[in-house]
Amino acid sequence: MEKQKLVILGGGESGVGSALLGKAKGYSVFLSDRGLLKDSYKLTLQQASIDFEEGTHTKDRILEADVVVKSPGIPDTVPLVVELLQAGVPVISEIEFAARYTHARLIGITGSNGKTTTTLLTYHLLKQAGLNVGLAGNIGDSFAKQVIDDQFDYYVLELSSFQLDGMFETHLHTAVLLNITPDHLDRYGYNFRNYVNSKFRILQNMSPKDHFIYFEDSTVITEGLAERSVEVNTLPVSLTKALTTGGYMAGEQLLASAGGNAVSIDLKTLPLKGKHNVINMLAASLAALTAGVAPETIAEGLLSFKNAAHRLEPVATIDGVQFINDSKATNVDSVYYALESMTAPTIWIAGGQDKGNDYSQLDEPVKQKVKALICLGKDNRKLIDYYTGKIPQITETQDIHDLIKQSLLWAVPGDVVLLSPACASFDLFKNYEDRGNQFKEAVHKAANEGINQ
Ligand code: ADP
Repeated sequence: MEKQKLVILGGGESGVGSALLGKAKGYSVFLSDRGLLKDSYKLTLQQASIDFEEGTHTKDRILEADVVVKSPGIPDTVPLVVELLQAGVPVISEIEFAARYTHARLIGITGSNGKTTTTLLTYHLLKQAGLNVGLAGNIGDSFAKQVIDDQFDYYVLELSSFQLDGMFETHLHTAVLLNITPDHLDRYGYNFRNYVNSKFRILQNMSPKDHFIYFEDSTVITEGLAERSVEVNTLPVSLTKALTTGGYMAGEQLLASAGGNAVSIDLKTLPLKGKHNVINMLAASLAALTAGVAPETIAEGLLSFKNAAHRLEPVATIDGVQFINDSKATNVDSVYYALESMTAPTIWIAGGQDKGNDYSQLDEPVKQKVKALICLGKDNRKLIDYYTGKIPQITETQDIHDLIKQSLLWAVPGDVVLLSPACASFDLFKNYEDRGNQFKEAVHKAANEGINQ
């Protein structure tokens, strides 16, 4: 019998992993990337004798596919994908392809913000409980590559809406939906409803035995849920209501209960700060309860967790002024939570590539917390126009060392300097990591050398 033809579009981590999995499962595999592949990926493909091309898409060969795995970075609207779909070729995501080959229980986590934090935390809670668990999705090693050996009992998957768009039959045993706020609308016809529908794909194929953990205080989520008749165990999370099943905050106490087990822990003792992280911790604790982790083990895990860099990351304290790197805050909602969690007068660093931001959502926390704004972008007009008259001191710079100097000039001991940009970084930096790293280096330099050198 002739081999099934698998074509992979996009040769990043997920594409190369899918190619390896396809090869291991007996497909004839061809990988095509319009850009250039990393040398390490080329070597991997060559070593596995997988055919690939870069810098072009050979359409005729791609259209011969029986199935196409598309990188989440490629929109459905590019002509090649439109043609594939018109020709009836299934176009799926790496998650969908890999899920066919695993027996593990799958925990999928999505949301406009908080995915990485909640995914890492859930993974940490399961791992340190001794469960045999893998981490994949938008993070770390490719899911497809990991299921070649299929040695885990659980996977915790970070799922972006683009990955969800290419998922059709994947069955998640536990799904987490943290929030839905406007983001990536350019990929959804500038229609928020399309983006909401994409996020709710996380529920497809769930059964009454499965668990759906969601943020109850979001009306977008509760209305979306009411519109869909899904038979699944629901585990809501709320910051405002007490719940008998689900997770909530009572004063300074975090409480999560599911299936007759309950976690209860004093918030002040926990390393993750801010209300947004209470939501993330409650969701992760509930996910761990659905995997059978004991409440006391969850409490220990919450205490020992260390988050990934660039998310409200404390950098250093100079002359009593604390510097915090929240470079990953690339939209307004995440800045809202960052400012909310500040307990001292704040010098706020924002700006970069604007994604159609509506700053009015920040009016309240800005009024309460922000004493000065330093804009760090190529074009800062929108920020300056909006905040003139609202924030007492405003300036702009494109030099990260100037930025630290200026913030130290304005700060008094006890203040906080918060980089939480609300914007993408690509105007001045390679990406948000580069922006956060340059900020951290400049802060450390100022701490070691003093600001005037
Ligand atoms: P994602 O992977 O979805 O981008 P991250 O965990 O990397 O999420 O966090 C991105 C930004 O969003 C950080 O600045 C963080 O402070 C903020 N954030 C984290 N969790 C939440 C949440 N539940 N709601 C709103 N903002 C959040």
